[in-house]
Amino acid sequence: MPITRRRLLAGLGASALWWQPALRAATTKAKGKVVVVGGGWGGLAAAAELRRLAPDLDVTLLEPNASFFSLPLSNAWLAGRIELGRLQRDYAPAAARHGYRHVQSKVIAIDREQRQVHSTGGRFDYDWLVLATGIRHDYSAWFAGDLVAARESSSRYGAAFLAGDDMATLKRKIDDFAGGDLLMTIPPPPYRCAPAPYERASAIAHLFKQRRIKGRLIVLDPGPGILGFRQLFAERYADQVTHITHANITLVDLATKTVATEFDSYRFDDAILMPPQQAHDLVWQAGLIGRDSSGKPTGWAAQDPLHLHATGDERVFLVGDVLGAVSPLFGYYTKTGHMAVRLGMIAAAEIAARASEAVPPALLPDSICHVTSDFALPEGIRIEASYRQRGDGVIMQTAHQQRNAQPRGEDAAWLDQTLAKIL
Ligand SMILES: Cc1cc2nc3c(=O)[nH]c(=O)nc-3n(C[C@H](O)[C@H](O)[C@H](O)COP(=O)(O)OP(=O)(O)OC[C@H]3O[C@@H](n4cnc5c(N)ncnc54)[C@H](O)[C@@H]3O)c2cc1C
Repeated sequence: MPITRRRLLAGLGASALWWQPALRAATTKAKGKVVVVGGGWGGLAAAAELRRLAPDLDVTLLEPNASFFSLPLSNAWLAGRIELGRLQRDYAPAAARHGYRHVQSKVIAIDREQRQVHSTGGRFDYDWLVLATGIRHDYSAWFAGDLVAARESSSRYGAAFLAGDDMATLKRKIDDFAGGDLLMTIPPPPYRCAPAPYERASAIAHLFKQRRIKGRLIVLDPGPGILGFRQLFAERYADQVTHITHANITLVDLATKTVATEFDSYRFDDAILMPPQQAHDLVWQAGLIGRDSSGKPTGWAAQDPLHLHATGDERVFLVGDVLGAVSPLFGYYTKTGHMAVRLGMIAAAEIAARASEAVPPALLPDSICHVTSDFALPEGIRIEASYRQRGDGVIMQTAHQQRNAQPRGEDAAWLDQTLAKIL
């Protein structure tokens, strides 16, 4: 049965892409080597979906860690609401189950001309490459070229926006905090999971209140904040949280433990300093960063908004938080795990079709994000976004937020169900 764009789009519902027998039938003869770099939400979804859609493809996942760590629900772990084991899973059983290779290695460079990936575990040739390495912190915005200050900020006051050691350090910092001023900066947009810093602030406020800590969390926020959280901090955590909106950081002085904004300066006893974010180093190394109209790097990948291949290189697909703007109407797709999974599956469908010389499908993602607003109750916010193409091809976004007074474990159910499919 031929694949038509209409049939593929017809299958796009809320839980969209675990489907499409038509696509599978057309791609079982797909041949070639695919290298997936990064075993986060996006990379894992791409690898599993590639094997499902095109079992003859040779798929290798390059990821330096032996186990996956979920940032979604990590704030619930900080708040003592769930066990660490729920967030962590080994890669090896998943690779065996789905039928791809996981090579535990760190990628050092991508040679697009030779179609080769250089890693600590050796060199890998590819016919198609999926780059799903997430974000990097841009300390140059605060410290220019001072790498010592950047390292110090990262090691002593880490942002904990990357999976791994950072999160354990943050948990120790919060658990050991005896009192005083804990300062947290929120990055300017775009950054991964827009509500995550607010959810984290709420977890910390809950712990301070529960443990009767004589401490204050000062949140420096470059924007207006999120309404639900502004109310929460003002009404339920007024003694624990000072939320300063429209606070643009002008100086971070680690020696005096001071952060200055255009209006004021704040001394801290301890801090969680979240600098601006950009696409991961490898996107820069591979020459895949976009440029704005003045020629300045955007900080994020340049890709085809619909098919997700790199601008000017249809052998490289970009997935997850690395993505640059996709629409003049709303800019970036929301940078969430849910979205990264959808994008990973779309990239897999693209590659599977190309590898069998079929016409690539035109698929659009969706995103659902469960955020805990108050860990004491618990109470949440559900943020949903869906996308469609306008007649002129421009991607449109419909998004809405809803207070979820009785979440009853929806977030944990999402985590378990999604991981069961991709990991
Ligand atoms: C505190 C917090 C809470 C969040 N909560 C939610 C939530 O509730 N729901 C939600 O949907 N999203 C949430 N997010 C956002 C979500 O975590 C990200 O959007 C998601 O992880 C993006 O997936 P990714 O695959 O693009 O990147 P990542 O998940 O970061 O994966 C990147 C992978 O690349 C690997 N890698 C890095 N460098 C290399 C290299 N050189 N070689 C090989 N591999 C490499 C990394 O080890 C990592 O495994 C949250 C984020 C944070 C920080």
